[in-house]
Amino acid sequence: MSEQLRRTRIIATLGPATDAPGMLKQVLEEGVDVVRLNFSHGNADDHRARAAVVRAVAAELGREVAILGDLQGPKIRVEKFAEGAIHLEAGAAFTLDCRVDAAPGDKRRVGVGYRGLWRDIKAGDRLLLDDGMIVMDVESIADEQVHCRVVLGGRLSDRKGINRQGGGLTVAALSDKDRRDITLAAELGVEFLAVSFVKNAQDVELTRSLLRKAGGEAAIVAKIERAEAIAALGEIIDASDVVMVARGDLGVEIGDAELPGLQKKIIRESLERSRAVITATQMMQSMVDSPIPTRAEVLDVANAVIDGTDAVMLSQETASGKHPEKAVAAMRRVCLGAERQFEPSIDFGPTLRSLDRTDQAIALAAMFLAGRVGVRAIVALTESGATARWLSRHRSSVPIYALSRNAAARRRMLLFRDVYPIEFDPHDVGPMLAAREAIQHLFSLGHLAENDRVILTTGDHTGQLGGTNTLKLLRVGPDGMAEGLGDL
Ligand code: PGA
Ligand code: MN
Repeated sequence: MSEQLRRTRIIATLGPATDAPGMLKQVLEEGVDVVRLNFSHGNADDHRARAAVVRAVAAELGREVAILGDLQGPKIRVEKFAEGAIHLEAGAAFTLDCRVDAAPGDKRRVGVGYRGLWRDIKAGDRLLLDDGMIVMDVESIADEQVHCRVVLGGRLSDRKGINRQGGGLTVAALSDKDRRDITLAAELGVEFLAVSFVKNAQDVELTRSLLRKAGGEAAIVAKIERAEAIAALGEIIDASDVVMVARGDLGVEIGDAELPGLQKKIIRESLERSRAVITATQMMQSMVDSPIPTRAEVLDVANAVIDGTDAVMLSQETASGKHPEKAVAAMRRVCLGAERQFEPSIDFGPTLRSLDRTDQAIALAAMFLAGRVGVRAIVALTESGATARWLSRHRSSVPIYALSRNAAARRRMLLFRDVYPIEFDPHDVGPMLAAREAIQHLFSLGHLAENDRVILTTGDHTGQLGGTNTLKLLRVGPDGMAEGLGDL
């Protein structure tokens, strides 16, 4: 029990680099809780194969690992060039051709996947291609073609993204490919499904309803990466289960100078609205090549932890980098360091917008007491994981052991900061005996020791959804027998 528990969760994106023999196992052993399948790359069979390997390696390690499927979303992209890539000079004229029969691109023009782009654009708009590596201004629009002047030149290759500075491109929420990938996500039984380029609550709800129709149970992750999403932030957070600060595209649309403030705002509002939140993109980008992170990257990961994020995410670092296992190890090390600096919040006011459920009220009371009675742990007997989620919205310094017999629910809890899901199927479902069994179980696993004080939450019958209505203050006696606490 002397080893420091890591509180912040780590997500690693899978790709060619983690396909190398033995690499996935190493990466999971270094401390990955959730793996991301990026549906922007690879085909359905690639994702099926990767998901199968994840389940197999997790079983081999005797661990639970969750899978997050990430929909490509309606990203607007240039089509292909005859030569694969071109070089654009500043000051040159360049045309984005939205016609269906646009020829393969050359150095004067290229086709665009989104045929309606010319309608959304006006002269004077600034377009950012390839995440801002290329910049061009729109001069005129005629015959479904957008004529631009290159401001910042460089190499432009097949299928690079197009963003408008300030956002506002009104492409449909889900492409045909996204709809097929939603069915794939249901087939793979992913625990989380991320929606890219969300602009309002409807985009989130549409994805959820398509997923449920396909038989999927995943929690829905809203990626905040468009300027419009910032304007509708509250309704988007409320509609989703998890929120992602998708700093890559967000930085392109709204400008990098706004990112630090927005990261803090998105994390704060997600916690206030009782949602889990992921901080993503370029966290350890230099480790795509380098075996160690830069000091700036160390500070970035640590600052996200101090901002209160539930999880930090690796993208290219693990998907196509040279040192996936080292990137995870660095992230784990930096999270642990930041957690030692972290000051738990003592003000319960702002971390709660509304209190309308009994389990939520019990969780709030538990966290209020945890900071005042001085307990070793919170123990939650939870069927769906809902209580664990309510508990983990309050940033404390106490671990939350979430005991559930439902394996899928345990995996969905793997994104919650401070929560340690544990398999537990009590013989007796009555609240008194189940509580005793739970304490004894944690004692036998070495998570609790004699004389530890704990707070335990439970319902009248364990195994009932949303049934938590009781909070107990207990002490661990000899042989792990739970006793009353007596005087505080
Ligand atoms: P992506 O999303 O990696 O799918 O682009 C994350 C981001 O934009 O930051
Ligand atoms: Mn993105």
